[in-house]
Amino acid sequence: MIVTNKISKYFGDHKVLDEISEEIQDGEVVVIIGPSGSGKSTFLRCLNGLEEVTSGSILIDGQDITQPDVNINQVRENLGMVFQHFNLFPHKTVLENLILAPKLVKDKDAKEKALRLLDRVGLLDKKDAYPSSLSGGQKQRIAIVRALCMDPKVMLFDEPTSALDPEMVGEVLEVMKDLAHQGMTMVLVTHEMGFAKEVGDRILFMDKGQIIEEGRPEDLFNNPKEERTRDFLSKVL
Ligand code: ADP
Ligand code: MG
Repeated sequence: MIVTNKISKYFGDHKVLDEISEEIQDGEVVVIIGPSGSGKSTFLRCLNGLEEVTSGSILIDGQDITQPDVNINQVRENLGMVFQHFNLFPHKTVLENLILAPKLVKDKDAKEKALRLLDRVGLLDKKDAYPSSLSGGQKQRIAIVRALCMDPKVMLFDEPTSALDPEMVGEVLEVMKDLAHQGMTMVLVTHEMGFAKEVGDRILFMDKGQIIEEGRPEDLFNNPKEERTRDFLSKVL
């Protein structure tokens, strides 16, 4: 579903991604861990074209999104992205937020689908509410639904629970787990190591713009091969 060929990203002279080559299969759940500043967010942002790579190429479902003639808006429709902060429009209701995208405004079935997805995350009764009346966990579940309304092929999550009060983390992870079990291809950055172990098919450990080590959760967490991985895990586990 996703192939990166030696992608590098510089901000000025600062190399933030260093020739990353990865393949993510259809239906795979890949969890990226690593210290702050290691390039995790930049990697995700390159995958959906929010950042341009300096060199290398990225194929999404066979389409090279680093080609100049690519329709990046169309590419992004296939990649749902959920951030730490939910970015809901405050002056629009939940349902209005869900069907804002141009593609959905034109789609007469969008509303019905939005309502169905809201029901799936247990928030159908909030359809006419404004974001300010919702808890952080509810807002993040809405943000996930908003991404799903576009029928993405891949969901990218960048620390979706980091800004939440602890008691709300579980409800968001539950929705993500549900998605994973339904076969959604997912790439996510998280500090929730329990979730990573339980739901991840594969863990990537990133440091200084490189993928230092990767493997199945049971191998990487229980038996890390690299010193840097061991050092990181000793701090977070
Ligand atoms: P992580 O998500 O692993 O914490 P990031 O991908 O956010 O790491 O950042 C990697 C490095 O790139 C950091 O040193 C950060 O300061 C730098 N960086 C990220 N975005 C920008 C930007 N827009 N301009 C300049 N430097 C950036
Ligand atoms: Mg980040």
